[in-house]
Amino acid sequence: MKKIIAVDGPAGAGKSTVSKIVAKKLSYTYIDTGAMYRAVGLKVLTRGGNFDENFIVDTARDIDIKLDAAGKIFLDGANVTQKIRTPEVSKAASDVAKVGFVRKKLTELQREMAALGSVVMDGRDIGTQVLPNADLKIFLTASVDERARRRFEELKAKGHAAEFDTIREEIILRDKQDSQREIAPLKQAEDAILLDTTNLSIDEVVAKILELAGNVTC
Ligand code: C5P
Repeated sequence: MKKIIAVDGPAGAGKSTVSKIVAKKLSYTYIDTGAMYRAVGLKVLTRGGNFDENFIVDTARDIDIKLDAAGKIFLDGANVTQKIRTPEVSKAASDVAKVGFVRKKLTELQREMAALGSVVMDGRDIGTQVLPNADLKIFLTASVDERARRRFEELKAKGHAAEFDTIREEIILRDKQDSQREIAPLKQAEDAILLDTTNLSIDEVVAKILELAGNVTC
């Protein structure tokens, strides 16, 4: 069956790690919507980092964003898969994500990508705005300390210099910005299933989602 699985939640809750594995196990396509906002953020930074709304709209107007089956992301034809993973781009993504024009454009693109079904899409507003009719909606969360610890380990493993306290502060700021923005704020859909991953391993979370997916009929 060609199901649509939506996975939302705050930064560092494990959405992309878990969604990627679930998609692979089901032979579904994984769509990382955060990477799309990151690509817009990177383009704004590259053009001079002026984050006023007109400049962001102008930057996003004819932007070309593509995700390939291997999870690579292309911005205006260039592979930016690594470049979008810095803390600076995380903040830029959250800044551009407040702008209605950017959200509308990326939401349309995301709906087109999900139209054929058999997808796992992760983000902040997938269950509430992008795919409100998804067959299964998961809201993944974890304590701030645990999410900061995961980001810290991830950055360290990639060789980036990182300070735990700084990462923790950045996560708190991003949570606040993402949950309090006017358009499509981060929020659990009424029909989403809440999974707190603070004390769960990746395998346990994956198993739970696969079990839930198996129980969903469409
Ligand atoms: O998931 P990730 O941390 O890569 O997302 C980067 C930023 O993009 C988030 O902090 C959020 O502001 C924005 N975003 C969003 N809606 C989505 C996915 C990401 O607003 N569906």
